[in-house]
Amino acid sequence: MKKLLVLALAAPALAFAQPNSPSQPGISGQAAALRDAALRDDHVAWDVLEGLTTEVGQRMAGTEAEARGRAWALRKLTELGFSNVHVEPFEMDVWVRGEERAEIISPFPQSMAVTALGNSGATPAPGIEAEVIGFDSVAALEAASDESVRGKIVFVTHAMAPAQDGSGYGPFGAPRRQGPSLASRKGAAAIVIRSIGTDHHRNPHTGVQSWAAGVRPIPAGALSIPDAEQLQRMLDRGRTVRMRLVLTPRNTGRHPSGNIVAEVPGSDPSAGIVIVGGHLDSWDLGTGAVDNGAGVAITTAAAHRIMQAGRPRRTIRVVLFGAEEVGGLGGEAHFQGNRAAGNVVLVGESDFGADRVWRVNMNLAPANAALGDRVTALLAPLGIVRGRDPANAGADLGPWAQAGTAAIDLNQDGTRYFDYHHTPDDTLDKVDPSQLRQNVAAWTAMLAAVADAPEAIAPVEVAP
Ligand SMILES: [Zn+2]
Repeated sequence: MKKLLVLALAAPALAFAQPNSPSQPGISGQAAALRDAALRDDHVAWDVLEGLTTEVGQRMAGTEAEARGRAWALRKLTELGFSNVHVEPFEMDVWVRGEERAEIISPFPQSMAVTALGNSGATPAPGIEAEVIGFDSVAALEAASDESVRGKIVFVTHAMAPAQDGSGYGPFGAPRRQGPSLASRKGAAAIVIRSIGTDHHRNPHTGVQSWAAGVRPIPAGALSIPDAEQLQRMLDRGRTVRMRLVLTPRNTGRHPSGNIVAEVPGSDPSAGIVIVGGHLDSWDLGTGAVDNGAGVAITTAAAHRIMQAGRPRRTIRVVLFGAEEVGGLGGEAHFQGNRAAGNVVLVGESDFGADRVWRVNMNLAPANAALGDRVTALLAPLGIVRGRDPANAGADLGPWAQAGTAAIDLNQDGTRYFDYHHTPDDTLDKVDPSQLRQNVAAWTAMLAAVADAPEAIAPVEVAP
């Protein structure tokens, strides 16, 4: 079944696998040639993605596994010939998963697939047993009286559906982000949510949530979508549903994390630095192939292609961020540590899997309109359209964009992204090599245009 799925997804890739040779007016023949070469050969991207997910596997922030990921990336980027390869260390509070089990005690005894959300509190080792109270939204939970919720296990469902631009994750992610604190404030014993995802497999989706100030941590888990639907059907029968829940995560204290930095030195230091990258850490359930080994591989491979073609005008800095999943700690650390230098002119992060890039959003100063048009023209043969929204540069490079640094987002098709996101199913076989190549081609084309742009790249005005 999985093989069929991959083949079916690979088929449309043929449409963009035909190299489209460069006689587009106004754009450099070299940038187009680099783009087309990337479509034919994914050696570096696949090597990085396959190596990282096989030799390291999951890379949970602040753990020994993430440290092995940093060591792996340091060695790989050095081997690939990047300059100034180093670690930017920082420390963080670390939370790790324990045992996780959920079972319905009555009226229909059976077990359910559950996983703890980040920063979840713990049950005692034997678990807790309580009545389940269901809500169809965070708003409904908010409206409930404390008395109706006290001592119970809160269940919150939602109706997230797949979307090409992934826009469901914002609104439908509320049960994960706000549900646990709200349930705790109302005196709930625990909370389980319908996983924030779009698949129909018994894979619960984890993800971070943070306790609001002063709120007591309670056990907080996600049921797989089929189990959440099963629980909803039980509740719809109007009988009292009792659940036993075992979640025993723990906080292990302060531990090191860090970003990996590598550069392709530019020939003109006065022209500024372009930062690209993705996050190196992952959740612990799968091997972090789609989220975000893919982004690491795509941006590394694109920068490598530019490096192989000769010295660009601007320095390209690749940053593989640590501890993104638990709150964007590495991105913030890089911003705080490097903003004062005042030499970063453009940023772009890849953190939405490896399905084909379908849209480019830019945040460029009016003075750089021509550069935007050149990037658009270079990307068009890859089937990429220009969007109307400003780029936001992702979780890790967002702080730069918010401070007025120019940014370009290459948006991947998110239709199946939330089938795998933060689940045990986020593994290498979900990445389609032909779509991965299209990503590298898009990033290579964008980087070639930006790094070699003869004009200055200006900051963007930020709303006060
Ligand atoms: Zn991610």
